[in-house]
Amino acid sequence: MDSTLARHRATGSLYEDQLHMGFSSLRFSDFLEDEFREVYARDNYQKSRLVLGLCTIVVIVVTLVQMTAYTGTAVPSGHLGLAVMAPVMLSALLVSYLDNRLLYQALLILSGLLVGIAGAIVDVQASLEGQGYYFAGQVGWVFILWSMLGLLFAPAAALCLGVSLIYIGCAVYVALPPEQVFFEGFMLLNVNLLGGYSCYKIEHFSRRTFLESRILNKLAERDGLTGLHNRRAFDEYMERIWRQSRRENTPLTVMLIDIDHFKAYNDMYGHQAGDDALKQVASVIASGVQRPLDIAARYGGEEFVLVLYGPATEYVTSLPEMLREDVMHLGTEHAGGTEAKCLTVSIGVAVVSPDAGRSQAGAIQMADEALYQAKEEGRNKVVIKMSGTTLIETGRFRARAV
Ligand code: GH3
Ligand code: MG
Ligand code: MG
Repeated sequence: MDSTLARHRATGSLYEDQLHMGFSSLRFSDFLEDEFREVYARDNYQKSRLVLGLCTIVVIVVTLVQMTAYTGTAVPSGHLGLAVMAPVMLSALLVSYLDNRLLYQALLILSGLLVGIAGAIVDVQASLEGQGYYFAGQVGWVFILWSMLGLLFAPAAALCLGVSLIYIGCAVYVALPPEQVFFEGFMLLNVNLLGGYSCYKIEHFSRRTFLESRILNKLAERDGLTGLHNRRAFDEYMERIWRQSRRENTPLTVMLIDIDHFKAYNDMYGHQAGDDALKQVASVIASGVQRPLDIAARYGGEEFVLVLYGPATEYVTSLPEMLREDVMHLGTEHAGGTEAKCLTVSIGVAVVSPDAGRSQAGAIQMADEALYQAKEEGRNKVVIKMSGTTLIETGRFRARAV
């Protein structure tokens, strides 16, 4: 199934459930987790590109200044700046333009690690040469890893812990003075605690915003009275499912469902009762959505639309008949209605094959013509048109014939 369409179909309740369940472990259910990671990476590209670009410039400038200012003696490992740090950050920067999230994330983590290791070697060696202030670079890098590269909490935590331990390991290995190692360890611990806290908070906030914005989007797609999709959401969905139906050479079934004599119902029983009846009919129509790519919507007023994606099997003809009967069996009294004396619907169905040369508007018009015919022939009835050729009629007409 087309994953974008599958996502479109994901109900708001999926996001609501996750919001209620909480996510203090910074993990959603599998389906949402994947979607969140994609969005999170996309949202962070700009920020991390800026950071990677600036860090590359800083590393190049510092390394060049160092190499000219301290020729011959200090910090030969400063070459690591040009040999390792700058290229690895530059390649992460370039890969961010390839739109390959996994490769980019892998390169980001790799550059975080390599720059951390190279930095540890350079900084510890600088300390040995009496330039202890290079340690600030290590602190800065750990802070950047936590909060500015757009890494998720878990990889950022693993990286920062790794880079900090490597630094302390190097400092102990070259036997820097114990009080210096202790002080630097203490500084790294602090920056890790602060950075970790802010990284956790940022990711938690991003996850909450992700869920809330999706819940709001889903709400905006719904009709306030019936809870079905509204007309705008239907039009958008129809465009996409129509294109997919052409692409995959799969027929599409469009059903227009209109309540019979509804104006009279409102006049006799009042607008509030009319609203209640609309909700009841809508819940019957919603029960017709059984498969992932099918959709039901309020088309306008007392008219509904149901679209089925897939081959014209027995299901396509039996479903509208079942819906018609189910509405009748609601038993909502309507003295001014059809012969049934209860609330009924008429249904016009168009089954459109991709090769029938119909347009999307043409398919809906075909369903509308079938609906018109159902009304003309006495209402409480289903009329099915197949690719503009075959005509099948059921409902009252068939009941009479029996
Ligand atoms: P037909 O059998 O030919 O469809 O006749 P009808 O009376 O159902 O059709 P008509 O288009 O004349 O009237 C539709 C009525 O639907 C008019 C309007 O008051 C009512 N209606 C539309 N939207 C709502 C709504 O949200 N709530 C209520 N209570 N009534 C609505
Ligand atoms: Mg009507
Ligand atoms: Mg109508």
